[in-house]
Amino acid sequence: MLIDTHCHVPDESYEKTPAQLISEASAEGVEKLITIGTNLEDSKIVIKTAEEFESVFAAIGIYPHEEVQRPIDETIQKLRELVDSSNKIVGIGECGFDIATETVNVQTQTQRPLDEQRMLFEKQIELAMEKDLPLIIHNRNGDAEVLNSLKRFANITNTNPTGVAHCFTSTWSFAKQLLDLGFYISFSAIITYPSGKPIWETAQKAPLDKVLVETDAPFLSPQGLRNKVNEPKYVKMTAKTLADIRNISFEELANATYENSCRLFKKMAAQPTKA
Ligand SMILES: [Zn+2]
Repeated sequence: MLIDTHCHVPDESYEKTPAQLISEASAEGVEKLITIGTNLEDSKIVIKTAEEFESVFAAIGIYPHEEVQRPIDETIQKLRELVDSSNKIVGIGECGFDIATETVNVQTQTQRPLDEQRMLFEKQIELAMEKDLPLIIHNRNGDAEVLNSLKRFANITNTNPTGVAHCFTSTWSFAKQLLDLGFYISFSAIITYPSGKPIWETAQKAPLDKVLVETDAPFLSPQGLRNKVNEPKYVKMTAKTLADIRNISFEELANATYENSCRLFKKMAAQPTKA
């Protein structure tokens, strides 16, 4: 049994309906999925999907470059109201940092400057703590920022936020620091790509009780299917690759990631489902 801990269903890239995607996933042993909101509108949509399907749960949050035109406090208040609107919300995010490396650091209308990304992220950490929900962290080129924000928050409040680094693509040294803070590490199909080899060190060394698998569907199809739209059922391929990298059986890996997902997303585990 597997859980796709991070996907975007529904999404306009799909010709299949959510019902089709969910039943095909279930046929491949993907018992539950967590669909992720990236802005206020999108969060409403994923909540609706989670309410409609027993095996679907939702995490809602504001991606670094979403809701740019709205004051951050207002955005967070609206997000808070959405969290209170459904029992099927099991996490806050995806949220975090998205820092362009190219010349793009010139801000456009649709890009949030770094100091505001930091503020938006820290307010979502606060909300996650307030609601006792795990964080789903998006991180592009923001290793130091992510750690600084988490540590700053832990110092001020004397409590530790918990959560997962989604679609992990960074170094073992960064993973180690997140693990020390109590975070989980989630692997996507990037570990199946030839270019994903640098992530294998973390895929090998992260403790088995701290790893999760995800698709990030419709993005990031596994190697061999990269011309296709990714679907939750393909999380199996990532799980197989992760088992191979760790030199353990698929069953052992599947059981461990299933238990880990239930431990982290405890509100999901508290709601028994039949897929
Ligand atoms: Zn995502």
